[in-house]
Amino acid sequence: MLPEFRDSMVQLIARTSTDLPPDVRKAMGLALAAEAPATRAGQALTIIAQNIDQAASCEGPICQDTGMPTFEVKVPVGANQIWLKQQVREAVAEATRRGKLRPNSVDSITGENSGNNLGPGTPIVHFEQWERDEIEVKLILKGGGCENTNAQYALPAELDHLGRADRSLDGVRKCILHAVWKAQGKGCAPGAVGVCIGGDRTSGYLHAKEQLFRTLDDVNPDSRLAAIEDAVMDQANQLTVGPMGFGGQTSLIGCKIGALNRLPASFFVSVAYDCWAFRRLGVTLDARTGAITSWLYRDGETPSVPMLTPEQVAAGFPRTGREIRLQAPITDEQVRSLKVGDVVLVSGRMFTGRDQVHHHLMHHEPPVDLRGSVLYHCGPVVVKEEASAGAAKPAGEGGWRVTAAGPTTSIREEPYQADILARYGVRLVIGKGGMGPKTLAGLKASGGAYLNAVGGAAQFYARCIDRVAGVSLMQFGTPEAMWHLDVTDFPAIVTMDAHGNSLHKEIEAESGAKLESVRAGS
Ligand code: SF4
Repeated sequence: MLPEFRDSMVQLIARTSTDLPPDVRKAMGLALAAEAPATRAGQALTIIAQNIDQAASCEGPICQDTGMPTFEVKVPVGANQIWLKQQVREAVAEATRRGKLRPNSVDSITGENSGNNLGPGTPIVHFEQWERDEIEVKLILKGGGCENTNAQYALPAELDHLGRADRSLDGVRKCILHAVWKAQGKGCAPGAVGVCIGGDRTSGYLHAKEQLFRTLDDVNPDSRLAAIEDAVMDQANQLTVGPMGFGGQTSLIGCKIGALNRLPASFFVSVAYDCWAFRRLGVTLDARTGAITSWLYRDGETPSVPMLTPEQVAAGFPRTGREIRLQAPITDEQVRSLKVGDVVLVSGRMFTGRDQVHHHLMHHEPPVDLRGSVLYHCGPVVVKEEASAGAAKPAGEGGWRVTAAGPTTSIREEPYQADILARYGVRLVIGKGGMGPKTLAGLKASGGAYLNAVGGAAQFYARCIDRVAGVSLMQFGTPEAMWHLDVTDFPAIVTMDAHGNSLHKEIEAESGAKLESVRAGS
């Protein structure tokens, strides 16, 4: 059997998780150059650029959500796919143990995390035979926040702000623009979309995701699809959804469209949205040894070109002097003085909480006193001292160290958040993508504010954590447990305040109006 295959897969996973490919770096560099540094978008993109460089230099995950590992494998005729798949699974477990992947495989019925990214359906491995005498493996790590913003349309359809989308290429264009607009900041914009015209509901989504294996700067060989790709890129970036949905020049960094035949009665448009943390790499392997012979999407020997100078990275968060410093616990007066648009630097103790914690708090008393607290929607990558990867800080309580800690999508907690604010006195909620009307009303009634951190900036935020002070609710697994984190100058932007204002509502309305101006395709 191929003695080096498993190790090659571990290398592929580690590099995909930690080092963005050149085409994505280039697109993000252009996005950064398009924004003034002191704007919300400029600050967010500078944090993202720092994060990309930090992840590559410490070989830590770019984003704490290392996503659903999806492998596309091409093998010579006669290759033993059963053995190869087992090796891929072992490599995934090993990369998880090394902290390159977060344990992300959860039993859909019990909620139990397998702890090693293995389980029914995870990882996803697709095989295809080809005539060549070598193996090719491509990998994409697509996180849950952007996966949740995928969209599928059955044409004809009536779309907000765009009117009717017919069974035509213009209807396809409208669907893609609608999907980008709906995503706002929830999928960590600026993102890229893979699109499939046709197929059935299942093959359409699969083919849409496969489009994400194309480089961002390639040209579609079908001139009709190339024209739609160009039009979408131009018009989506007129919407000014901007990085993280903060408003700004760049909402989309790529649009890649494919087509499958369909049944006469069906016309699906499937849109796979990927975030700026567009982690996709590949390798070709010697079919006898499994050793890597070349890297796809990059020159494996050449180090990545940094996004920023070392001085810019060392300078940290780009400050304007208008930032507001807050030390937890937070008072009612402090929180009511915050306004949408304020940039806040939070210090002191914060507690992580995502889906399982929120559900738990609806039925049980909290394990800690949450009065005046900061609740961070985050499922960090946490490793024990001996298994550390990309260590930014010494290990804390119990030998735990956080190696990646960006925000998760907050809207999932919409059913619970207002109740938790009211019951337990939480003052600041930090997450990404914003929350809905129930939480906005809850913030006003209870005296709280929602702060949007920069989604995907897992390395940047890990460096704001001084130590792990403790952990509760470990029965939910490491991403879902409640981590007690001591932080210094953790930056985030107030996007929902205690006075009923929401930046998310504003940007959605403004970008919706702009959608109407591109309705006709001009
Ligand atoms: S960058 Fe955002 S959407 Fe992408 S994986 Fe990370 S948290 Fe999810």
